[in-house]
Amino acid sequence: MMLRGRDGCKLIAEKPKNYNAMPFGLLKYGLSKEYPAHQHFTPKTDLKPHYDVVIIGAGGHGTAIAYHLAKHHGIRNVAVLDKGYLGGGNTARNTAVIRSNYLTEEGVNFYRESVKLYQNLSNEFGYNIMFENRGQLTLAHSDAAIRSFRWRAEVNQHLGVRSELVDPQMIRELVPNLRVQDDARFPILGGLWHADGATARHDAVAWGYAKGACERGVELHQCTEVTDVRISNGRVVGVETPRGYVEAGCVVQAVAGMSSVVAEMAGIKLPIHSYPLQAMVTQPYKPLLEPHVSSPHVHVYVHQTSRGEFVIGGGSDPYALYNTRATLEQKESLASAVLELFPFLAQAKMLRQWAGVTDMTPDYSPIMGLSPVDNYYLDAGWGTWGFKATPICGQTMAELVATGRAPELITPFALDRFYDFRQVNEAGATAASH
Ligand SMILES: Cc1cc2nc3c(=O)[nH]c(=O)nc-3n(C[C@H](O)[C@H](O)[C@H](O)COP(=O)(O)OP(=O)(O)OC[C@H]3O[C@@H](n4cnc5c(N)ncnc54)[C@H](O)[C@@H]3O)c2cc1C
Repeated sequence: MMLRGRDGCKLIAEKPKNYNAMPFGLLKYGLSKEYPAHQHFTPKTDLKPHYDVVIIGAGGHGTAIAYHLAKHHGIRNVAVLDKGYLGGGNTARNTAVIRSNYLTEEGVNFYRESVKLYQNLSNEFGYNIMFENRGQLTLAHSDAAIRSFRWRAEVNQHLGVRSELVDPQMIRELVPNLRVQDDARFPILGGLWHADGATARHDAVAWGYAKGACERGVELHQCTEVTDVRISNGRVVGVETPRGYVEAGCVVQAVAGMSSVVAEMAGIKLPIHSYPLQAMVTQPYKPLLEPHVSSPHVHVYVHQTSRGEFVIGGGSDPYALYNTRATLEQKESLASAVLELFPFLAQAKMLRQWAGVTDMTPDYSPIMGLSPVDNYYLDAGWGTWGFKATPICGQTMAELVATGRAPELITPFALDRFYDFRQVNEAGATAASH
């Protein structure tokens, strides 16, 4: 008897007669036309001459917007164009921190809704994004930090986010391997405990959204760079690509790390400076660190993945640059900082180090909404904090594109805030925590 998949295709014999024959079985099934691989994404096709919506960038954000347009607004004549491959930008490079313990009312409300959507995303996709609610601890090494954490905890609790000030004893219980000693170089005086803090598998988020969008008729075109944006009478009319010109009813740019470059094609100047941000990962160890731990003071954060690796990150490089090289200076600085907190990591071997380019706004909040060009929408300025925002950004930006009206959750993040002096200052709550 055969087990059958949902589409009726044969999966595997219920009782393999001979386990030793497994490699041959794999080869047989792999090469046979009877067992075709599932096609989750758009097969390579020509670009159509016209789409109702063109989305530039197939990261988590671009694919999430396409997914919501198709699923909730019935807008399916949509193309997502990427110069590289699906989820190959910052979505593939981030350290997957998900949290909502920001400082401003606007920020907390927005990220809180994103964390809620993350909690059910695997069910929504029917696809495991490995969401893990592990909690996040931010350490205070000074009285000033304690004061600001108390402030943040109160704002967070008021807005329905689980966040509280904890003392060193509680920290010892939450993270037994952390060095909490009075004679430490940077003694830990307390911390901000955020029980809602989580992680998820970053690329699976983009894959899940892209799969759901493509199943509903959206076209995903990889290796298709947008090289220019055409405007006529103050309104966007299409985009140029090496594969030809494409007419568009409207265009959304979701190109983290390249926001200023692409916006400039549409004649829009964004208040953004782009900096490399690096991270690194150790070889795997047995599970011994449950929460995500961050120290803005020594400028480092660390968590252990479900594979056992320790992911270590910190602040951006000191110079604005479009470059994704990994540097020895940053490796040394992250290593010395993490050893202040977890001396046992002195034995750890580094497996990989990498970088992405992050678009930093003056107030450390994103830019979402309308632009000075009609029908051209901005999803930009995601700096070091945009992965956690992916689900809510997809939902709200799709609503904006479908209705022409920005949902209340994102109105504070419009580009005009920089001209009207209505910045949403999250500098203190972003720092090394992302
Ligand atoms: C090292 C590092 C750690 C981070 N850690 C965290 C974290 O822990 N938590 C968190 O919330 N955030 C984190 N971030 C930030 C986060 O990764 C980004 O904000 C988020 O991934 C942005 O998603 P996106 O879909 O907008 O962009 P991307 O995933 O970068 O997608 C943009 C896509 O646009 C494409 N593109 C660019 N130009 C063009 C063009 N001209 N034509 C066509 N396509 C184009 C690119 O190829 C890319 O695939 C981190 C970033 C880095 C670099």
